[in-house]
Amino acid sequence: LSNISLTDVIYKFVIVNVAVLGCGKTTTSIILSKLLPKCGHVQSDNITKPVKDKLTRMALETLKDHDMVIIDRGNHLLRERKQIFDEFEDLYHEYLPINTKFKFVCLNYVSNKHSPELWNLTRNRIIKRGDNHQTIKAETQGIKFAESIMKGFINRFQPVDVDHEPDSKFNVIIDLDVHSNESSKSNAVKVLNALFEYYPEVVSPVSDEKVEQAFQEALDHKPELTIKVGKAKAKKIKPVYIGIRLGDKDKARVMDEIEQLLARCAAKNNHPVDMSTWVTLKQLGRIPMNLHVTLAHIASTRDKKLGKIWNRYINEYFSKFIQELNKKLPDELNGSVQTLPNTKAHIRLKSLCISEKLACVEVEIVAIINESQSITVESTNAYPHITMGTVDQTIPAVESNLLLQELIRHCGSSEIAEAPDGPAKNQISADEENFNRKYLYKFPPDILFEDLNLFLQF
Ligand code: GDP
Ligand code: MG
Repeated sequence: LSNISLTDVIYKFVIVNVAVLGCGKTTTSIILSKLLPKCGHVQSDNITKPVKDKLTRMALETLKDHDMVIIDRGNHLLRERKQIFDEFEDLYHEYLPINTKFKFVCLNYVSNKHSPELWNLTRNRIIKRGDNHQTIKAETQGIKFAESIMKGFINRFQPVDVDHEPDSKFNVIIDLDVHSNESSKSNAVKVLNALFEYYPEVVSPVSDEKVEQAFQEALDHKPELTIKVGKAKAKKIKPVYIGIRLGDKDKARVMDEIEQLLARCAAKNNHPVDMSTWVTLKQLGRIPMNLHVTLAHIASTRDKKLGKIWNRYINEYFSKFIQELNKKLPDELNGSVQTLPNTKAHIRLKSLCISEKLACVEVEIVAIINESQSITVESTNAYPHITMGTVDQTIPAVESNLLLQELIRHCGSSEIAEAPDGPAKNQISADEENFNRKYLYKFPPDILFEDLNLFLQF
């Protein structure tokens, strides 16, 4: 060591960005590395986890055959700047001769982190950049998500403070700004001029045409590595339910059809029709505000066969719509109900099924009409139906399925369930009393509800 004289010192230049997202760090770095053949460029966005000291090591590796290196990372925190100084000191001897010294040049992009110009310009650039970035996919993940990352950087941003460590260790600070549509070009020129002024022995002047050409090429740059968006990815909000909605008028009509059916059956039946459940539902206000026919529920994905039905609706027929909603309403989607556009369903009432606990209407889903694709009618419920209400809240609506199963399976096909002159009572169970209180009344065959909306519950 002692025989290395001062003249043997080799200087290497380390250019350190201090910036937030979208300032044009990468664009400016590309321009500079194109115009300065001795200048390398290392990007934190090209580093896969675990990060540790990889960026510094890449920079040191680059400096083996370059005079300069640009460390393309935001370095918006004092801690990050300190880390660069510390790591260079700790690691450089593994890569470079011991008599290497560094000149640290700071590219100070942000003079006022609250500047609306800075926000508007960087925000627009990040949106325009879309998915054309290693980790931040503004298109896939949505604008809101990109904005939240950007705001995080701005809020945490610690401005360059030359009077204190670590920033006092910079040999040169070059103030840049992000105010114009060609900021990266003018910033690159500022850097070139400043470097030429401070270190004429390593940087030579560059013509305007070359700058312009490098700027255009840099704008066209696409990252090679794209890291799979993992944890940071905006969670896609998925629906939990798809069904057919009956509007208010449809509901009134269903209720009316039920009343007429019960009245007709009572009129021609020797036994009095058991109206008690229906009357109770009405009196207690237990008839749901919105009536619907379930097509598929996410819970059905537990079953392989039923899961396929769910998948066809959610991941095939309506996946595009769901994707668009995620982009359009990323914040409001969760818990919301969304009507499917350009899609209508026709249903036909088949039978009214009543037990002591509940009433439901078995329906046939005649067709689902979609403007751009043909949709096979399927339901994860063996007997598609409208639950008209349960007598108290301890009885879940899914019990409709059990009642329908019991009544229809025991009577054979649901088409022939009703005795011609009265309700079909189930006679098969040993528990006669119990079954006596379950009834199926068949509707006339022509009660159609057309052009009903389909909806997704998120
Ligand atoms: P970084 O996040 O600071 O690395 O910013 P980038 O260099 O990736 O720039 C963000 C987006 O803005 C990219 O799509 C660039 O192509 C674009 N961009 C960068 N500088 C300029 C500029 O001076 N003018 C215009 N019009 N677009 C730019
Ligand atoms: Mg970048």
